[in-house]
Amino acid sequence: MKINLSTAGQSVAPFLVIGSGIAGLYTALKLAEIDAVTLITKDTLEESNTSYAQGGIAVALSPADSPELHYTDTIQAGAGLCLPPAVAALVHEGPERVQELITWGVPFDAEAGTLLMTREAAHSYPRVLHADGDATGREITKILAQRVLAHPQITVKENHYAVALLTGEGGCYGALVLAENGIQTSLLAEATVLTTGGCGQIFTDTTNPAVATGDGLALAFLAGAPLADLEFVQFHPTALHLDGAPCFLITEAVRGEGGILRNQKGIRFMPSYHEQAELAPRDVVARSVWSEMAKTGADHVYLDLSLLSADLIKRRFPNIYETCLRYGLDITKAPIPVAPAAHYMMGGIAIDLHGRTALPRLFACGEVANPGVHGANRLASNSLLDGLVFGHRIFEYLKEHPRTSPALPPELTAVFPTETNPENLTADRLALKELASTHLGIIRRAEDLQNAQRLLVPLTPEAPRALSRPYLELQNMRLLVRLMLNAALARQESRGSHFRVDYPEPDPAWTKRIVLSAAGIDSIPADQPFTWPW
Ligand SMILES: Cc1cc2nc3c(=O)[nH]c(=O)nc-3n(C[C@H](O)[C@H](O)[C@H](O)COP(=O)(O)OP(=O)(O)OC[C@H]3O[C@@H](n4cnc5c(N)ncnc54)[C@H](O)[C@@H]3O)c2cc1C
Repeated sequence: MKINLSTAGQSVAPFLVIGSGIAGLYTALKLAEIDAVTLITKDTLEESNTSYAQGGIAVALSPADSPELHYTDTIQAGAGLCLPPAVAALVHEGPERVQELITWGVPFDAEAGTLLMTREAAHSYPRVLHADGDATGREITKILAQRVLAHPQITVKENHYAVALLTGEGGCYGALVLAENGIQTSLLAEATVLTTGGCGQIFTDTTNPAVATGDGLALAFLAGAPLADLEFVQFHPTALHLDGAPCFLITEAVRGEGGILRNQKGIRFMPSYHEQAELAPRDVVARSVWSEMAKTGADHVYLDLSLLSADLIKRRFPNIYETCLRYGLDITKAPIPVAPAAHYMMGGIAIDLHGRTALPRLFACGEVANPGVHGANRLASNSLLDGLVFGHRIFEYLKEHPRTSPALPPELTAVFPTETNPENLTADRLALKELASTHLGIIRRAEDLQNAQRLLVPLTPEAPRALSRPYLELQNMRLLVRLMLNAALARQESRGSHFRVDYPEPDPAWTKRIVLSAAGIDSIPADQPFTWPW
């Protein structure tokens, strides 16, 4: 649906940041050094994927480690699709960004003044900093949110849902927003930064909280900014699989500390799949777990912690220990039933090395964006760092490039999807999630993808009965699933997290990235950065 809005009498803020995870909070704090920032978020300030991050933040801070080693690990995990200059920015600028968090008061775990670091899958060195054991995201969020709330240059609007971006001649001018009281308002800005996070909620089993519905991806796509690599969804191999318990993440750091994966017969299986066994890249471990489950018809395998002392488990993983205990499982005594779950979207809004999208004045960073750092498979604990590094790059760009204030177009356009007018939003959302999980999961095949496409043909746009967050989220998720199906069908090979039984091997001809835009489906060589004329 397209609506035109008059700008007469409207004021324009310098910066609008949409989202309050690590990317949004951090970018808002940096931009506030330049000028006033409005930060909106659809739930509370602290509700985000970031808040649930457990394992930590990967960064080469130890004297025996180096950004070069971190670079090599990231490129290897990315299975040929990482963009080298973006990875170089991540690993070389990461240490300074993390030092900034430390200066701001993020209490990373340390002993006798030395930061504690864990090794996670596919890292060649222990370089993952954590806070309060396995509550890293919560601790980072707490400090950043406190600073944002105390900052005189930042206005925070919680429970404000971005419905659509506002565009006109000259690019993006802010967003159409649904406030808590149901009132629609336009928030105009000279520069808009999307930091709306990922889309795990399109799957039935996911580690992501309810806010992760991929809104920003849909908003950007409909406003004219292309998306890239949407076929690459990371499935985490070990989410809690216990009757009555939520799909709670059991961080990779548990395997980093010595946790062993066993099948229903109690046999350790990872060494027969990969030389790095439990610490193989995530996509390998997730597919191996899936295979073991398929062989036995079981819906889970076990994570055995018997090599870890009860003291270490309680000290290092207090959050996991307490959560499992709440559901009747004492993990110091019994193995954890686990199964794979949708965890992270590697693809996202195509951005250049300054966080700029194809649409002038629209920037993006964090999980919603795709600078090319994760390729076909994200290296564990690289995403929190990604949000900081590219948030800082947006800040540097906007500091160096004075924002011109051209005459505001008299009218701006907002486009949002209105493909279905469901009687029952909850039932439709569930049906969509089941469709995505069945056809777009860890193992894919052309026939399934085509069947799902047929089931999701866009319906005739209808005027919505009333705009609400659940209604709009469902529309965005539906659009996104369709785009992901198109990308997954187009990539006729297996690489990283994308596995096709009908094309089970990687194909060098596919060392390229799939780009989706209003014009259709296209691709660019994997080593070519996105560049825009503005
Ligand atoms: C359980 C779990 C554990 C993880 N562990 C780790 C880890 O140990 N290390 C690591 O590096 N990564 C980890 N990740 C991944 C990492 O947490 C995320 O990729 C990262 O936090 C994303 O940050 P972000 O700021 O881009 O998005 P988010 O943190 O997801 O924030 C997005 C924000 O946008 C808001 N929003 C969304 N749509 C709208 C809208 N339409 N209007 C207004 N606001 C909107 C949301 O409410 C939210 O505030 C984990 C993820 C999960 C789910």
